[in-house]
Amino acid sequence: MADPGPLTCLVCAQTWPARTPRCTCGYDFETRSPAFAIERLGREARHGNRIWRRGLVAFLLLPVAFFAVGSWPTAVMVALVQLICSVWWTVQGLIKADRANHRLDEARKLAQLPAARVIIRAKP
Ligand SMILES: [Zn+2]
Repeated sequence: MADPGPLTCLVCAQTWPARTPRCTCGYDFETRSPAFAIERLGREARHGNRIWRRGLVAFLLLPVAFFAVGSWPTAVMVALVQLICSVWWTVQGLIKADRANHRLDEARKLAQLPAARVIIRAKP
């Protein structure tokens, strides 16, 4: 860690200048601990899941809102806005959850590494 070269995050592969204490994903360069990243990415994945579920619910409620609105042009406009929102939420939520889950896998792999190092060091 003493060499002044740029740092590459082991969780999300983003590059940072030397001596950056922590990546935006939560990986700690100083302690090499992915613990905070695991916690953060877990939250991010759950948030993504909530967004795409919201999109799905909005899509399923499309006919309800459509027939609840009395006048014809207003109903079409409301339905259109609802459709755009539902598709947007579903796509964004799925992308967010997928990206967070991939990084979470990387972070969890890193969490298992220090234990392996200790075992190797313990052998004479
Ligand atoms: Zn990172």
